[in-house]
Amino acid sequence: MKHCPKCGAQLADDDDYCYFCGNKLEEEKVERTEASFSHIENSSEQYRNNYDNNTPAVVGFVMSFIFPMVGLVLSIIGLKNSKRLNGKNRGLAIAGIIIAILNYVITFGLYFIIYMAEGGQVWDFVQNVVTN
Ligand SMILES: [Zn+2]
Repeated sequence: MKHCPKCGAQLADDDDYCYFCGNKLEEEKVERTEASFSHIENSSEQYRNNYDNNTPAVVGFVMSFIFPMVGLVLSIIGLKNSKRLNGKNRGLAIAGIIIAILNYVITFGLYFIIYMAEGGQVWDFVQNVVTN
């Protein structure tokens, strides 16, 4: 079903002229075709954005908990990728970077606390970190 753009009468899809006002309907057909083309373009772009995954951001986020070094590198790549992907997974990439850095700080902090609790000296600790 379509409607006459001039008088609004309800017409059959294959009508070329409006039965009520005699308006030629070809122009409307062209507009509709253009509209549906631009709709297809929009949805294919949307499709690309939805399925072009920012894998480094996702993997980097997970890795930041387990291997902060790997997580940090992947999250930075993910952050760069997110600019290309209209900000996709930007928050995840930033979270990955923060968690990776926190993971470092906490890991070294715990290591330091345990070492000191076991009666180690600061200089021994530093040497230990450098040599290992
Ligand atoms: Zn009409």
